Amino acid sequence: MHLEIDQERCCAAGQCVLVADDLFDQRDEDGVVVLLDANPEGDAAARAAEAAALCPAAAITVVGS
Ligand code: SF4
Repeated sequence: MHLEIDQERCCAAGQCVLVADDLFDQRDEDGVVVLLDANPEGDAAARAAEAAALCPAAAITVVGS
């Protein structure tokens, strides 16, 4: 799986970090998402897909399998 994030869309809700703190972090200064792993596999890929579905700003996109 390949992930992309859009920091312009991110509203710093933090749902992605709650689901997958190994894949996503938030900037200290404003809470905007930081992608830690753009190519998760296995269980991590499943959690990445869940994070993309939960993100209220649609800022996480799965661009490949
Ligand atoms: S869930 Fe979406 S809006 Fe919230 S921090 Fe993550 S990417 Fe940003």
